[in-house]
Amino acid sequence: MVTPTERVRACERSKIRVMFDLAEAADRDLIRLEVGEPDFDTPAHVVEAAADAARNGQTHYTSNAGLQELRDAIATTLHRDYEIEYDPDQFTVTNGGMEALHLAVLSTVEKGAELLIPSPAWPNYWTQARLADGVPVEVPMAEAEGYALDAENVVDRMSDDTGAVILCSPSNPTGQVYDPEPIREVVEAAAEHDAYVIADEVYLGLVYDRDPVGIAALTGHPDHVLTVGSCSKTYAMTGWRVGWLGGPAELVDEATKIHESTTACAGSVAQHAAIAALTGPQEPVEEMYDAFAERRAYVADRVAEMEGVSCPTPNGAFYAFLNVDLPGSSLAIAKRLLREQDVVLAPGNGFGEAGEGKLRLSFASSLEDLETGLDGIERAVQQA
Ligand code: PLP
Repeated sequence: MVTPTERVRACERSKIRVMFDLAEAADRDLIRLEVGEPDFDTPAHVVEAAADAARNGQTHYTSNAGLQELRDAIATTLHRDYEIEYDPDQFTVTNGGMEALHLAVLSTVEKGAELLIPSPAWPNYWTQARLADGVPVEVPMAEAEGYALDAENVVDRMSDDTGAVILCSPSNPTGQVYDPEPIREVVEAAAEHDAYVIADEVYLGLVYDRDPVGIAALTGHPDHVLTVGSCSKTYAMTGWRVGWLGGPAELVDEATKIHESTTACAGSVAQHAAIAALTGPQEPVEEMYDAFAERRAYVADRVAEMEGVSCPTPNGAFYAFLNVDLPGSSLAIAKRLLREQDVVLAPGNGFGEAGEGKLRLSFASSLEDLETGLDGIERAVQQA
């Protein structure tokens, strides 16, 4: 009999995958609005830079923390675009934001300590807390407040058992961008408890109605903030697996020890691609941003005029968290939409209990697909 450790058994597969698997098995054309990645290809100059690097023998291990040129580029970009002031040696380049989050949680959450997760939130946080032998604690944010960060609620839940708090802004799945004041309050309280705020900012390049500012730049306690970023969403580079962990140098150095023993470094060719993405022409990135902004406006306008469907207007990322007036659980509604309308959405309870009854729509799809998908949702509500 095969018995994996309790640690592994405690981890669940994401409920989002259920709909993905059902859609794959359906064997007919469906409108796939459940996926969380840009529908664009990586910009051509980035692909070229990677091909050049591979041809030129840049195919060896790099230093564990990543290529110096890339860390320089990350520091410059974060300062220029998000006001974050880190030196290049305050970064470790990781295999996607995912690995950076894993390192951040392993480095801040002691065995038995708590990882506070304002929710609805990305399911991997729960897994990452469990892999650190920590305790994931969901702190629900109110739908009536548009899932805005309720600092009082988070601070009330904090104690000396708190290792870290995850703040994901812009948020997957709600599309919310947190206001500076509640962020400051949470960081302040974390510092008082000798805990950390892990700023998941992989969507910071996709903020629509204000200038994006990094959490580390907003607070008087940057030494209690770890910043997670990535090339995945902003540069349409999900498969290249390049992200970064930034923060107090001592902590990032410690985290790099784990990185050294688990992945050694991010892929060398992918790191060269990331340098091109950050330092090369930004027109392709601007075009993708404009397309996401147009789709966001389309989805928000359509939902606003629909009977029986609502959502807080997303001001970042590429998600709308829908309240659809159909009976049953998130999963039941998602299955019904697939079966009856050929539309695939992610069930909201995959993002914590606070998401039960809701559905996540990704607008990282063409306007045509969004129109057809929203028509289907509208029909389902009218027919109910
Ligand atoms: N954080 C959030 C909220 C995400 O949605 C994702 C990916 O979907 C990630 C982190 C990790 O992204 P990556 O590892 O591709 O950088």
